[in-house]
Amino acid sequence: MKNKILVTGGAGFVGSHLCERLLKEGNEVIAVDNFFTGSKDNVLHLLDNPYFELVRHDITMPFFAEIDQIYNLACPASPVHYQYNAIKTVKTSVMGAINMLGLAKRKNATILQASTSEVYGDPKIHPQPESYWGHVNPIGIRSCYDEGKRVAETLFVNYHTQNNVKIKIIRIFNTYGPRMHPNDGRVVSNFIMQALRNKDITVYGEGNQTRSFQYVDDLVEGMIRMVNNTDDSFTGPVNIGNLGEFTILQLAEKIIELTNSKSKIVYQPLPQDDPMQRQPDISLAKEKLNWTPKVPLNEGLIKTIAYFKSLI
Ligand code: NAD
Ligand code: UDP
Repeated sequence: MKNKILVTGGAGFVGSHLCERLLKEGNEVIAVDNFFTGSKDNVLHLLDNPYFELVRHDITMPFFAEIDQIYNLACPASPVHYQYNAIKTVKTSVMGAINMLGLAKRKNATILQASTSEVYGDPKIHPQPESYWGHVNPIGIRSCYDEGKRVAETLFVNYHTQNNVKIKIIRIFNTYGPRMHPNDGRVVSNFIMQALRNKDITVYGEGNQTRSFQYVDDLVEGMIRMVNNTDDSFTGPVNIGNLGEFTILQLAEKIIELTNSKSKIVYQPLPQDDPMQRQPDISLAKEKLNWTPKVPLNEGLIKTIAYFKSLI
């Protein structure tokens, strides 16, 4: 057995792929999840594995287990879900980080924080390097998520400097793939579900805002490389994302084409504080982790479309 690993948010979209991969590599995995946005269905295929444990637990409460590594992913990630109960979102990021860092400290475990490109807010520097401090509205509708994740980074860094906890922070850019929640309101899942049902594709604003979309397998590879990087002084943050930058309109057109859909594009108001552009600078991940994303958008979308088709 290689490592005993705790994955918080293990029944979520990214968490379920991570658990699968960690088990494949011979590790013992404990997934904790409160099933707010995740579900047992995402890890149903892992439940027969004797080295996998699924625990219903909310990380705003302390959790104790004998573990060597922690991947802290628990937190709703789609704007619709994280805004549903903004206070709870802050509690999950902040109290969750304190609880998991406490556990890492007691167990001398390496702990990874799933931070986000949202710490850059609506960025004024493009593409975004890790050195950019960001442009975040602290009282806007996205702040429960953005500021929660920023405080979590602060906590991680201070547990490292004050208590020598082995921390690894990654900043994840928009990630998509099978097992995204079909109703979570994120752009890839929305557009694919709308296209498969020949319903209107809802582009917010004029659709000229950009995002850089990363396939989930590339993210999981980056996470694992980061945690297993043996230089304890290399804590990150490190951007993990795909360089391919597309406007939301381009994404809509691509999905219509790949699904052969009869859907029409309709325009709806742009939500408050919606970032206009986003693209990672991934030089640090290349240099320190020898990591680059491998899956182009078309290829990843085809796999994701197949998944959503299977749900309908
Ligand atoms: P997700 O919503 O599918 O997964 C989050 C999981 O955390 C869910 O299973 C949910 O039930 C669980 N959870 C939420 N609050 C919890 C709590 N208090 N206690 C225990 N479990 C809780 O989202 P995802 O896309 O898989 O995101 C995983 C992580 O990656 C999140 O921390 C997110 O902020 C981060 N991230 C994701 C993206 C992306 O594009 N997918 C981008 C940047 C950062
Ligand atoms: N978006 C859109 N239509 C939708 C859902 C999202 O045009 O049905 C836009 C949204 O306004 C944003 C981009 O797509 O500009 C990405 O949104 P998502 O919620 O996926 O992620 P985030 O804004 O957190 O990057």
